[in-house]
Amino acid sequence: MKTFTCSCGNTLHFPNTQCVKCGASVGFLPDKLVVADIQPSHDNTYTSVQSEHSYRKCRNYAIEDVCNWMVRSDDDNPLCTSCRLTHTIPNLDKAENRKLWFYMEEAKRRLLYSLLKLDLPIVSKWEDPKKGLGFAFLEDVTEDEFGNELTLKEYVSTGHSGGLITINLKEADPSNRIKIREQMQEQYRTLLGHFRHESGHYFWDQLVKDSDQLDEFRALFGDERIDYQHAMQSYYANGPNPNWQNVWISAYASMHPWEDWAETWAHYLHMVDTLQTANHFSFSIGGAALSDPLHEHPHDDALITERNFTRLFNDWCKLTSSLNALNRSMGLDDAYPFIISISALNKLRFVHNIIEQSAQSKVLEKGTENS
Ligand SMILES: [Zn+2]
Ligand SMILES: [Zn+2]
Ligand SMILES: [Zn+2]
Repeated sequence: MKTFTCSCGNTLHFPNTQCVKCGASVGFLPDKLVVADIQPSHDNTYTSVQSEHSYRKCRNYAIEDVCNWMVRSDDDNPLCTSCRLTHTIPNLDKAENRKLWFYMEEAKRRLLYSLLKLDLPIVSKWEDPKKGLGFAFLEDVTEDEFGNELTLKEYVSTGHSGGLITINLKEADPSNRIKIREQMQEQYRTLLGHFRHESGHYFWDQLVKDSDQLDEFRALFGDERIDYQHAMQSYYANGPNPNWQNVWISAYASMHPWEDWAETWAHYLHMVDTLQTANHFSFSIGGAALSDPLHEHPHDDALITERNFTRLFNDWCKLTSSLNALNRSMGLDDAYPFIISISALNKLRFVHNIIEQSAQSKVLEKGTENS
């Protein structure tokens, strides 16, 4: 993620709603992929020097205060491209849920920024009920409306099904999330990580399931037709494969080929976003500048695509060892507590190639439309 610049010269960050220097309102323009200062015009519309279009604030920005994205004035939808993907929001009768909803939307927008930068197709379930993407932020039901404990409790599983990504609301609460992380003996559990992981399941359906690369997928990740329920029960009963560090990117990835893919996909997004940040801030390690993984994306030359992946991976190894050392200096846990085996590296390369091909085909489609 890069930073952006206000007309006054001040730096703007992705979640900002106001410039702290000149006081201007600030919003993200999804069609330009920039955060910019916005000037009020007539009829609650706004203009920006960064765009020739006029905009409204997303309803969840103007009224609910959980968003900072803008909607083009020629778009009738009151919600921005991110908020319109949310099918179920938390029950706002509970005061604490508004904050948790805010965290959910914030993490979702960060995910979407990466997906948009990678030119991945984002279609809402409202537009395409079959192939579109949607989100539901749901809460465990453990007590009735009067606060009495229910005998029949309903627990929400974070997961993906047919394009709908469900995230348990308690994952947005840091203290709850740390508790779960410790129970599960995980080294890394973040809200953004959940969004990235679940988006991997969605894009497996979109980009791999019916593609020519399914055989290659199976050769790398295993056969996804093995029984999922059985794999899950066995994982929770017996723990991860004892050899997981040599084959999988995380312990959880050893559960089933689908989870392996989703974990690898999430790591790829961690890498691209963090390296883009480091490049934007002109990081160099041992005198060598870290490259922006999106600099030559997408490219129609397979050799360049391969070279870019090698660079991305090498830069990532250099960056994460520094990042972890910096965190330890601050008394914090490692930012990236993982070691990538050769097997996991080959899977990451596969994810890279799938994303590059998807972006490349989008470029070709656009070219045909324009010609
Ligand atoms: Zn400013
Ligand atoms: Zn919004
Ligand atoms: Zn999963």
